[in-house]
Amino acid sequence: MEYGIGGTIAAISTAAGEAGIGIVRLSGPDAIGITGRMFRGPRGGGLPANSHSVVYGHVVDPRSGEIIDEVLVTVFRAPRSYTREDVVEIGCHGGLAAVRGVLQAALRAGARAALPGEFTARAFLNGRLDLSQAEAVLDLVRSKTGRAAAAALAQLQGGLSGKVRRVREDLLDVVAWIEAGIDFPDEVGDPPGDELAKQIGAAALEIGRLLNSAGSGRILREGIRVALAGRPNVGKSSLMNALLRMERAIVTDVPGTTRDTIEEGANILGFPVTLVDMAGLRDTRDAVEAAGVARARGEIEAADVVVIVLDDSAGLGDEDRRAIDNARRAPGVRVVAVNKVDLGAGALARVDLEGLCGASRAVRVSARTGENIGALEEAIVAAAGGTGSSGGSLAQVVVTNARHAAALERAAAALDEAESGVKSGLPVDLASTALRDAVDALGEITGDTAGEEIIDRIFREFCVGK
Ligand code: GDP
Repeated sequence: MEYGIGGTIAAISTAAGEAGIGIVRLSGPDAIGITGRMFRGPRGGGLPANSHSVVYGHVVDPRSGEIIDEVLVTVFRAPRSYTREDVVEIGCHGGLAAVRGVLQAALRAGARAALPGEFTARAFLNGRLDLSQAEAVLDLVRSKTGRAAAAALAQLQGGLSGKVRRVREDLLDVVAWIEAGIDFPDEVGDPPGDELAKQIGAAALEIGRLLNSAGSGRILREGIRVALAGRPNVGKSSLMNALLRMERAIVTDVPGTTRDTIEEGANILGFPVTLVDMAGLRDTRDAVEAAGVARARGEIEAADVVVIVLDDSAGLGDEDRRAIDNARRAPGVRVVAVNKVDLGAGALARVDLEGLCGASRAVRVSARTGENIGALEEAIVAAAGGTGSSGGSLAQVVVTNARHAAALERAAAALDEAESGVKSGLPVDLASTALRDAVDALGEITGDTAGEEIIDRIFREFCVGK
């Protein structure tokens, strides 16, 4: 295991860049001693004796004594800290030079540079968080919409682990019951089959409920990539603006607006969405434009949902049919937006567009008036496998992580095997083996049975300082 090496670690815990304040964090048995060697309080005072208290002072170079920055230092004594070790947070000025200077001083005073996610890894290894809670820390930091953040917070607070643990413990009881019967056939005997089937069925039901949330959950965490496809002038850019304006919240940074594709982050019904509009595909005889067309194809290929935009005032032309053909070749789910219905032309009103485009839905909209944009949003979210209704409580437990969903699937399959074995009167020790598989799969979610490799892989995804 990469994590779990001891020592006192230090890292910059705030984002790089110009900011009012920055924080350098230390954790480990010598965190307080190391900070003491680089800190000067007012009138030469030292660090506070009490846990959870803050003191003002200066960080100095532990060798030269030169002042590096003016700081506030917070001391958290073990075990009442994020990692359950002694933790010190040094709040300094937010510029790169200041935070790097403070980190440098900590390293000179005896700390080691932390690995990515090592603070959270220690919280996990010291039993303060289980694995799914540790993963939620990363999800929360990365959340781009309120709904995604709420799901991560519920997971951090143990919502998912609590449910998984309860099912796992119930199954362990069943296993113990079966095994007692095997070990003591005369005193205990085999549990009655119908009672076993009932208990296994109850566990399977709970796991099924969690798995039901995984469709929405996955896209809450990973987002939906939506490409707008269609010939020039059908209103793709206008539609993109209408979708952006609906929520007024541009939640992701814009990773480069190129000549021929425009990408914007949007919040659609609480789901983080990347909208991609392919502009400037007019003259395909031009070599540069040909490259643009190739890129647009790539974007359509990469999208989870392709919105085929058509113009209700113009009907279907050759260019529209070409756009539809292109979209049909891509793996994403298709939705049709029949735009410009405000003009009342109705040229596409009687065409079976779902059939023609192989689309999950066709929605008649107007980018100009905003008519039916809400229905288009719902169609996009549903096509990506989510439920648009925001009726559910935000604090609801949702399975957002593909690793958790895969473990739940394995547990469900094992329970299925156990249940059908019991019902068809197979020897109960077979059921007990399948139940143990289910117990192990559930334990991977909380980390009770996760191997070192899984653990390393999870924490390596974090950035330094988390
Ligand atoms: P794109 O080339 O597909 O991106 O299309 P644009 O968004 O640039 O729109 C092309 C033209 O159609 C512009 O003149 C828009 O004002 C107009 N347009 C777009 N959407 C609508 C709509 O819903 N109703 C009407 N009446 N005009 C629209």
